[in-house]
Amino acid sequence: MTPSVEFRGVSVHFGRTTALDSLDLAVGRGETLALLGPSGSGKSTALKALAGFVRPSAGRVFLNGEDVTDLPPHRRGLGVVVQSYALFPHMRVADNVAFGLKARRWPRADVAARVAEVLDLVGMGGYARRFPRELSGGQQQRVALARALAIRPDVLLLDEPLSALDAALREDMIAELLRLRAELPDTTLVYVTHDQGEALALADRIAVMRDSRLVETGPCEQLYRRPGSEFTASFLGAAN
Ligand code: ADP
Ligand code: MG
Repeated sequence: MTPSVEFRGVSVHFGRTTALDSLDLAVGRGETLALLGPSGSGKSTALKALAGFVRPSAGRVFLNGEDVTDLPPHRRGLGVVVQSYALFPHMRVADNVAFGLKARRWPRADVAARVAEVLDLVGMGGYARRFPRELSGGQQQRVALARALAIRPDVLLLDEPLSALDAALREDMIAELLRLRAELPDTTLVYVTHDQGEALALADRIAVMRDSRLVETGPCEQLYRRPGSEFTASFLGAAN
């Protein structure tokens, strides 16, 4: 089957810095893949190359078999939640969520219905008229997720979506994301995190990154019990 997401030999350089070195990785339709590694290992860069926010210096990225390397971000049809999930502060929650739909010229009535639907999906149904500053960090995070989901993306990219939350809220959001996964079984999820616990809780498969390179990839259980490298063993082991 054609992978939902595929990196083929993708490298990214910033000046002399190699941020991503020859990444080869495929993610299947409906799969949740955690890109796991310490800070500075190239996770966000990989996600940005996929989203079209940075240009690879080598290699190609594919979505559903289509080479999208030369497409601008808005033509890739992805839902993206970046590390700092900044909502538009001057817009109400509903308008934040509607933004991508209006950009795609959805009819007004459809926009309103879809906004209500995704806000319900993330448990924020009662907050449509609020402004971001009137919400807690966790609530803002949910709205950012709703905004990404609104366009019904085949592929959802989340970059450290829980990093701004305290431990209790993080637990809630993990439960929320697991519920969402169950409700959207065809949505492919690429989940960037430096947190072993999050990766193990959420992912079907983990891809371990270190120093701009992919170390290894495998199902959570396998990487945890039979890590293929010293690095994976110590990094995943650090969760306990
Ligand atoms: P991670 O998300 O795993 O923490 P990043 O992908 O953000 O790592 O960064 C990988 C490497 O690339 C790091 O050494 C980082 O300093 C560097 N880097 C990332 N973005 C830029 C940029 N815009 N300009 C220069 N260097 C960058
Ligand atoms: Mg990052």
